[in-house]
Amino acid sequence: MSTQTTTGLAAVRQEIERACREAARNPATVTLVAVSKTFDAAAIEPVIAAGQRAFGENRVQEAAAKWPALLARTPGIELHMIGPLQSNKAKEAVALFHAIHSVDRPSLCEALAKEIEKQGRRPLLFVEINTGAEAQKAGVLPQDADAFLARCREAYGLPIGGLMCIPPADEAPAPHFALTAKIAARNGLKLLSMGMSADFAIAIAMGATHIRVGSAIFGTRT
Ligand SMILES: *Cc1c(COP(=O)(O)O)cnc(C)c1O
Repeated sequence: MSTQTTTGLAAVRQEIERACREAARNPATVTLVAVSKTFDAAAIEPVIAAGQRAFGENRVQEAAAKWPALLARTPGIELHMIGPLQSNKAKEAVALFHAIHSVDRPSLCEALAKEIEKQGRRPLLFVEINTGAEAQKAGVLPQDADAFLARCREAYGLPIGGLMCIPPADEAPAPHFALTAKIAARNGLKLLSMGMSADFAIAIAMGATHIRVGSAIFGTRT
């Protein structure tokens, strides 16, 4: 496991460097979020030992069970919430995560704003865009994005740092990345959370600042 994860991490780092070179971008402008969902501390530890500091989880409960001990051991780790977030988990999420990539509805904005105020913590926030308008997927529809972002600011005083998208599994990702980048640009947002194991090089070419990579580092999830 240890060998597999560190080999995967090294390969992903190399691919990031290559994609950045091709896109004439500084690799320091791309944050690799290592998605450790379903993997236990024993699988995560070698990746931390190899210098990785940003990790992604998609369930509050799972993250709350395994990360506090790991965080206590290594300073400087950032935890990113990348999965759908229920409003009743906002308190726990604000307490645990340094970034939340899945802001997508007013009730969640309200709950997050309340907890940010109460706890005095300021997680980096991304609004998720459902670029493929998929019924089963979370996220704000592209045509509703500008109004939603204005509402985040005006009604809830939420500082949004950027946008996130998960392209439909059966489509070429590039148009979805381009649409997300376009919505971000016209709303003055600098950060783009896009790209996973299969397509992060394309996402980097299209301006991703945060790539969320799981299986290419940790192996196949069971
Ligand atoms: C699981 C997950 C990822 C990582 O997917 P891989 O294909 O394993 O890299 C990225 N983003 C989100 C939102 C996820 O849930």
